[in-house]
Amino acid sequence: MAEIQSNEVLVVKSETSKINAVDFSNLTFGRVFTDHMFVCDFEDGKWQSPKIMPYQALTIEPSARVFHYGQAVFEGMKAYKDDDGNIFLFRPDENYRRINKSAVRLAIPEFPESYFFDGMKTLLKLDSDWIKPGVGNSLYIRPFIIATEPAISASPAATYRFMIICSPAKAYYNEPVRVLFAEKYSRSADGGVGFAKAAGNYAAQFYPTNLAQEKGYQQIIWTDASTHDYLEEAGTMNIFFRIGDKLITAPNNDRILDGVTRKSVIQLAEDLGIDCEVRRVSVKEIKEAAKNGSLKEIFGTGTAAVVSPVSAFEHTGDVFELPEVENSYASLFKKTLMNIQHNLSEDKHGWRYGVR
Ligand SMILES: *Cc1c(COP(=O)(O)O)cnc(C)c1O
Repeated sequence: MAEIQSNEVLVVKSETSKINAVDFSNLTFGRVFTDHMFVCDFEDGKWQSPKIMPYQALTIEPSARVFHYGQAVFEGMKAYKDDDGNIFLFRPDENYRRINKSAVRLAIPEFPESYFFDGMKTLLKLDSDWIKPGVGNSLYIRPFIIATEPAISASPAATYRFMIICSPAKAYYNEPVRVLFAEKYSRSADGGVGFAKAAGNYAAQFYPTNLAQEKGYQQIIWTDASTHDYLEEAGTMNIFFRIGDKLITAPNNDRILDGVTRKSVIQLAEDLGIDCEVRRVSVKEIKEAAKNGSLKEIFGTGTAAVVSPVSAFEHTGDVFELPEVENSYASLFKKTLMNIQHNLSEDKHGWRYGVR
């Protein structure tokens, strides 16, 4: 990784801190933000000098293209602190690569690596008190880029803003979720933007997800857009199926987001001697496995919840309950990942990134 001069980022410190008003034992995800934010503007054909300033509202013209054409991409990462006060990120190079992959697809200029890492490290050190030690505590980091040019002709903007905001997060015991397999709606299509962390991918999921929630399902497992026969991902999480002692997850393609947690779980499975097949997985196969009792687990993987078990699924009116299993892979992977993230176990793949 490029060596960075920490004086590259101009810092304007907040005069007061909001931290004492925050109840860290009772946090709702994504509602409270730290004292500072990172800002960098793209103007005159290049990314200008980055700066850190007190977290505050933006002044953006209503004609800014992001509001009209959704030219926006984002990332989701977390920072952790061990009991000695050291701060760590988990595989941040993957997030850096991915935001630029997303940016390219949305015709947004790529962001420089040194600004990304220097900005994030400076911001985390400044707001370090907001990262609480203890397994399960973390600081959720949200880098994003929006098209700011005030012009409503339908073409890519000439100006953009890259920002990082941070929100303290507490690991709740996450209740297993009930999911609906998609039969009609799709979140992405061949040749589309499903692989990108594009803001609009989420907007497009809200309506069908509301319909699923009315039926008692918290999430949808999206199927391939053309046949709805193959299970792809959960829209904020990638998805794994356990049949017998074997794991199966869909291969990445241009409809599926290439999750960092997913690729880490695939590697951990290999390390632990668990057979993991990366291949297409059909609705039919999963329903049959549920019927004959060989389907042991379904779980989602993503930065926010790490690993999220599924307790039931529905497809074409058939409802299958998944009884809790002993020695679940979901809890094994969750524990293993969190121990690495919090500097409590060996990190043989070099996934931990010390913020110094
Ligand atoms: C962010 C995201 C994931 C999970 O990716 P991680 O890198 O593991 O956090 C999965 N699916 C979609 C659609 C996402 O946006």
